[in-house]
Amino acid sequence: MFETLSDRLTTVFTSLRGKGRLSEEDINTTAREIRLALLEADVALPVVRDFIAHVKERARGAEVSKALNPAQQFIKIVNEELVQILGGESRELSFSKTPPTVIMLAGLQGSGKTTLAGKLGKWLASERDTPLLVAADLQRPNAVTQLQVVGERAEIPVFAPEPGNGVGDPVEVARESVEQARRNNHNVVIIDTAGRLGVDEEMMQQAADIRDAVQPDEILFVVDAMIGQDAVNTAQSFLDGVGYDAVALTKLDGDARGGAALSIRHITGKPIMFASTGEKLEDFDAFHPDRMASRILD
Ligand code: GDP
Repeated sequence: MFETLSDRLTTVFTSLRGKGRLSEEDINTTAREIRLALLEADVALPVVRDFIAHVKERARGAEVSKALNPAQQFIKIVNEELVQILGGESRELSFSKTPPTVIMLAGLQGSGKTTLAGKLGKWLASERDTPLLVAADLQRPNAVTQLQVVGERAEIPVFAPEPGNGVGDPVEVARESVEQARRNNHNVVIIDTAGRLGVDEEMMQQAADIRDAVQPDEILFVVDAMIGQDAVNTAQSFLDGVGYDAVALTKLDGDARGGAALSIRHITGKPIMFASTGEKLEDFDAFHPDRMASRILD
């Protein structure tokens, strides 16, 4: 995860070692190198600009410190700015006062929604919640079966349309699932919706219809971090088309660069709430900006 960016930043900071005090030239040179490292990591340009402006301003204003040498001081500033760009505080799920809490997953096909439904379900179950997974992706023939397989592995019940009843209406399935959850005391409903390979109006409309029918407490936009800048563009399209409360980043394990993670919060204004880091159900956790920043600067 983020190895390329990590390595680049380590090299940048190494060149500051042994300096007694940072000159204006040191600050400019280092800022320029960090800028290049971020651009190579595929971080969106407006994010890079803001980031560098903050870092420079703070490096110039930094007091001479006995505890930290100039390199350490620069690292501290970059660390704090990375935390900011990643969202500052962690954002937790908000639960409804009148259960079930409805969580809707939206995103492109292949982004990892179905897998994430299982992971989130298992994660919630470990916190004593009683989730119900809902197969409202009726577009792909395999999607319902896939969620059922994931549910079985995660040991979380799945609500799906009865086989043999034709394609079915995803809005109706979503609506019924909430009723079912109420009847069977599931305190959380996780709705897996249909995605396409690219942004598409019909898919957006379907997600918007499900949203209007069940009025989710949380809409999570699920996005593959490995697609870099495209993740940011897709995030913007979904924000305009469906709207969402938070982002779940998937496939961070395969993302050497980190551009999506570092851009998405700043560009969309929405917090990253979860991170998925592998194909196994356990490869999942709440997203913590401070821990992620430390990993990058490790
Ligand atoms: P959906 O079409 O959005 O429901 O996506 P899926 O859940 O079917 O995931 C698509 C593919 O990505 C599957 O092969 C998953 O095993 C894989 N996948 C999902 N999340 C992760 C992840 O965090 N890391 C890795 N390496 N693979 C993942």
